[in-house]
Amino acid sequence: MLNTGKYKKELSYYLDNSYNILLICHINPDGDAIGSMLALYHFLMSKGKRVDMISPNFLQEFLTWMAGAEKINIFIKKRKKSLTIIERADLIIMLDFNQPNRLGEAEKPVLESKAKKILIDHHLNSDSFCDLIISDSNRCSTAEIVYELVTDLNGEKFKDVNFSEAVYVGIITDTGNFEHGYFSGNTFRIIADLLDTGIDKDRIYNLVFNNFTESRIRLLGYAVHNRMVILPEYHTAYIALTIKDLEKYNYRKGDTEGFVNLPLSIKGIDFSALFIEKEGLVKLSFRSRGEFSVSSFAEKYFGGGGHFNAAGGDYYDTLENTIKYFLEVLKKVRGNES
Ligand code: 5GP
Ligand code: MN
Repeated sequence: MLNTGKYKKELSYYLDNSYNILLICHINPDGDAIGSMLALYHFLMSKGKRVDMISPNFLQEFLTWMAGAEKINIFIKKRKKSLTIIERADLIIMLDFNQPNRLGEAEKPVLESKAKKILIDHHLNSDSFCDLIISDSNRCSTAEIVYELVTDLNGEKFKDVNFSEAVYVGIITDTGNFEHGYFSGNTFRIIADLLDTGIDKDRIYNLVFNNFTESRIRLLGYAVHNRMVILPEYHTAYIALTIKDLEKYNYRKGDTEGFVNLPLSIKGIDFSALFIEKEGLVKLSFRSRGEFSVSSFAEKYFGGGGHFNAAGGDYYDTLENTIKYFLEVLKKVRGNES
């Protein structure tokens, strides 16, 4: 596991020599993207820094309650302001992604900015687009790495409730409340510290996981009942949802979050895929149990990436053709399994 302490000097140097600091996360931000960004924000603000935050696009409702979320500039909504912030930044800290195209429309201005750039992340195989990369794919979340970096920089535990809540949200969302991912004894020692600051874990759980609409739950039932295909010969299952399906159930962004995990609970299935039809492309999510690397699969066949057991990608074709291609690839990759 990465020893974050070795970055203390370099990170302090960048922070001490920067006046305008920008924190930015990936497009379609999840709980870890927003949690790690807000955690770092609360710490840097407590040290009297000038800090701005940008998300490439909108936050889902289950994250908007978090302290400081209202300060996040949505690039596609406040383009002019965001461009000014990017332009004036001396230091840009990027959180929870490994390829610059995950910045969406903010990619070009960020890459063109003269600011020093730091990446803090836990995905596999970071592209080298930053001056400093702090990345460890053995961590459950970027928030866990941020927690340690902040502890190093602060010289002692940073006991701030807003900070603790943000780290907690990052960890529980990326592990499905400690169900999957690379959490370790280290993660639980951090959780113990967070709980000691007085955060209300039940309140946070409800805000994050018990916040769905009725139509989302009905879409979930429909997806499993009508759209799930099991391929026992490949130990694989997939769910494919059309635009029409989504419209029928008043789809709102984030409604299909978690669907891809469900088929993995079927005995004998260790690879699951979710296809979401969009205009002109299909968004894919992959999950696996055990030794099958979905990040390699996503990278090699769908121009994406992610983690060993959780990854995603895009395919620019119809849903029908995407499934056809997926089945061809599946045969090639897993055809010899018994
Ligand atoms: P999800 O399936 O929940 O959208 O994503 C699972 C993981 O794969 C996340 O860690 C996410 O960052 C990563 N991921 C999802 N889509 C893409 C993609 O198109 N490109 C890359 N590089 N990573 C992705
Ligand atoms: Mn993450």
